[in-house]
Amino acid sequence: MIVVLKPDTQPGPSERAALRAVAARYPHLELRFHRVRGALQDLHEVYVFGPTRQVPTEVFEELPFVQKVIRVSSKYRIIGRHDGQAPEVGFEYQGLTFSQDSFHVFAGLCAVDTREHVETMMRALARLGITTTRMGAYKPRTSPYDFQGHGRACLPYVFELAGKYGIRVIAMEVTHEAHLEEIHDALAEAGHPTGVMVQIGTRNAQNFELLKHVGRQHEFPVLFKRGMGITLEESLNACEYVATNGNHRIVFCLRGVKTNLGDPHRNLVDFAQVPVVKRQTRLPVCIDPSHSVGKKVPAPDRILDIWHAAAQGVIAGANMVLVDFHPRPEKALCDGPQAMLMEEMEAFFEDMRICREAYRKRQALAERTASALAA
Ligand code: PEP
Ligand code: MN
Repeated sequence: MIVVLKPDTQPGPSERAALRAVAARYPHLELRFHRVRGALQDLHEVYVFGPTRQVPTEVFEELPFVQKVIRVSSKYRIIGRHDGQAPEVGFEYQGLTFSQDSFHVFAGLCAVDTREHVETMMRALARLGITTTRMGAYKPRTSPYDFQGHGRACLPYVFELAGKYGIRVIAMEVTHEAHLEEIHDALAEAGHPTGVMVQIGTRNAQNFELLKHVGRQHEFPVLFKRGMGITLEESLNACEYVATNGNHRIVFCLRGVKTNLGDPHRNLVDFAQVPVVKRQTRLPVCIDPSHSVGKKVPAPDRILDIWHAAAQGVIAGANMVLVDFHPRPEKALCDGPQAMLMEEMEAFFEDMRICREAYRKRQALAERTASALAA
């Protein structure tokens, strides 16, 4: 059960006491207070855990500062929308808004290899007015003999250059709880020139201890990538581990699923699920066309498969795109075949703008249709 307080109500001592007094009338109820820092407003929600089935919603609704009470299904208690009852709120980070209505492209290196390549990337982004990127430092690789990422050794120059080129948020995968500390320390040492959205990779989608760790910390928002070999429902349940441990600043990323049915692409592109995730959860939805398609090949219309896949996700309302570029893909230490050239970056951003505009037009059309039907 979620008790949503009226907008801009601060649950002070008297409100908390009133809520606790109501809860005390029923056995084994536990209250957890949560402030949802929304993009538009701050919301305070109180999660009621325990045997809530016998608790009528009215007992909380009668309190003057309560807006409404949502009876949640056991699925996705916190990230879920509960048949549209739970509002979508989004979050702010580093002055940027992440919500089911926002749009950001995180273009960058799959893996940081040299300082020079990081600088080339960030300079190109800055020239296009882009303030978001991806930079892999900790790489979970299929083979132990492959490049594992430079780890904390590269963080000082990555953060320094981010500051130099006005990068506000870097998506960076972590594979162990210790990496959070390393990123925290390196950011502090560099004087906080930028922010980091910590990425949980597909291979760790059900690493529950790691999920609990990123959930317990409040410094970094989380980019959760769906598991490549589990159902969407299992991925959303895993994502709920982050939220239930206290961190609600989560973006859910679709990145394709592993099956030969997706051949010749690296994964079977799953971007038709953008609206599904938006309907079932309150989370902004990201798509990763690079890891879905896995190779840089053009169709006869000269449009790259990666662009076509990205377009499918964005035209369906995706809120974020995570995408690989590299100054010298043939020299890349990780995922070179799917990296686009720097010379293609400006056109890619233009294509994304076209797709986002098309989504906006489709949204307006659907709105008009729905109004006409209701009239
Ligand atoms: C990545 O984004 O660098 C990555 C390894 O992706 P995934 O976890 O989706 O394979
Ligand atoms: Mn990769």
